[in-house]
Amino acid sequence: MTTKSVLQEAKDIELATQMIELGARLQVLQAETSLSYDRLARLYRETRGCSPPKGMLPFSVDWFTTWLPNIHSTILYSIYCYMDKLTPARKTQALIESYKLYLEQANAGRVEGAGDEPVLSFTRAWMLLRFFESDMLQLSACERCGGKFIAHAHEPDTGFVCAICKPPPRAGKTRASKKRTQGATMNKKAPANRIQKSTQGKNLSET
Ligand SMILES: [Zn+2]
Repeated sequence: MTTKSVLQEAKDIELATQMIELGARLQVLQAETSLSYDRLARLYRETRGCSPPKGMLPFSVDWFTTWLPNIHSTILYSIYCYMDKLTPARKTQALIESYKLYLEQANAGRVEGAGDEPVLSFTRAWMLLRFFESDMLQLSACERCGGKFIAHAHEPDTGFVCAICKPPPRAGKTRASKKRTQGATMNKKAPANRIQKSTQGKNLSET
């Protein structure tokens, strides 16, 4: 009979809590700790105040090579490599530290109303490391800027141009920005709405 180390369990709970706070899915916690499903589900509810989401993990490798996710995941992966090699944080702890730094970068200069969700979720970031481990992704050097970006493994570097040097025509047109534009057009079409707004403005200035 094996007795579980209390100290190890405490470390696992600490690690799992940090990952839950960053939005990790239960499958990630199961893979990274030796805590049971039930205990993890309880920890999740206690930390976030709701039940953990169900469903499959995002398995798409291609997602990481589409333009915006590519830029975001390249930033995260570069920070992770630095953390893992040059700081005392290793593997999962290095991922946690890098993800926090990524969030800081991703939130800087964020347009108001652009949505609260970061492009790269913690679970996706975790999957990204698994894809690198299983040799499905690599870093390719852009022939224009020389920066290294995530690309499918075993693809030759020759002629590789990154998502920043050659953004697609639809770049920057997110669902949130579309919503904002739609909102503006709707206001133009509905004069009643505009009148209401201007009266509201008047009221405000009078008070
Ligand atoms: Zn480039």
